[in-house]
Amino acid sequence: MRIVLLGAPGSGKGTQSQRLVQRFGIPQISTGDLLRSAVARGTPLGIKARAVMEAGKLVDDATVLGMIEERLAEPDVARGFILDGFPRNIAQAEALDRMLTALGKPLTAVVQMDVPYAELTRRIAGRRSCQNCGRVYNIYSMPVGAALVCPNCPGNPPLFQRPDDNEATVVERLKVYEAQTRPLVGYYGGQGLLQSIDAQGDVDAITALLVGVLSSPAGEKARSVAGATKRAKSRPAAKKKPGAKAGKSARSKVAGKAKAKAKTKAKTKAKAKTKAKTKAKAKAKSRARNTAPKSARKAAPVTRRAAARKKKKAPARKK
Ligand code: AMP
Repeated sequence: MRIVLLGAPGSGKGTQSQRLVQRFGIPQISTGDLLRSAVARGTPLGIKARAVMEAGKLVDDATVLGMIEERLAEPDVARGFILDGFPRNIAQAEALDRMLTALGKPLTAVVQMDVPYAELTRRIAGRRSCQNCGRVYNIYSMPVGAALVCPNCPGNPPLFQRPDDNEATVVERLKVYEAQTRPLVGYYGGQGLLQSIDAQGDVDAITALLVGVLSSPAGEKARSVAGATKRAKSRPAAKKKPGAKAGKSARSKVAGKAKAKAKTKAKTKAKAKTKAKTKAKAKAKSRARNTAPKSARKAAPVTRRAAARKKKKAPARKK
């Protein structure tokens, strides 16, 4: 599996990448994490990147591509990898394609994680990370009153908020995403690699959706249910070669139509039969009334309306 997770800041790429690492046993490559580590270590690259990151802008392509090239040369990526936060623009995507083609290991899937804008800003505001294990938490999904520490690490170190997770920087990061990263949806869509999932709601449910999308057999690339339905509705009917054998779905469609037609026919027939029966009954009744003796005819039951009419006509009886 050689996967790219696409999505705006706060869409959950980091959280879901960590879960995919557990699930598939392949490493997560996060350019954000690599850059933060360089900043923390105070390397020349880190010193250069720090100000750019804190302003919410993109670090220059040459720096990021150099980092990626180095990382892809490490042995643990032989079985696959999850790219999180890379590529961030078309130039990076093209460079990645070239690198992977040279290695003979092209991408196998790109998943776009869709989250509405308001939810993104809320998630970023609540995001806290562990400096020790890198795990990402969110104060909004933690139990009320829970200590802001990492339950995963010995000594439970305190969680910290990324310096670029502040309101002003977030606005800039979302702007940069729209202008530079979103065009990748078209880029990978054109390569037939893109799948989208609705990345709102329960974290476990999103993981399940993601795993489902990534595990679906080739040629039948799964999409989010909503996406699949939408596409199915707007897709024009597939053209068939003349004389081609009907596929399974076409055959079942024809069989279904015939079944429905037969059902309607039977219904109409039954309706006509009931109508004829009622008509015959009424005819027999009226014939019986007309042929009965006068006395019997008088005794025949009168309708309520006829009785009322008769009562109205008759003068009121004196008491
Ligand atoms: P992230 O953790 O992915 O949100 O990244 C944090 C910051 O690191 C971004 O706002 C950028 O400044 C920088 N960064 C991460 N990945 C890239 C990339 N692929 N290209 C350029 N800058 C990046």
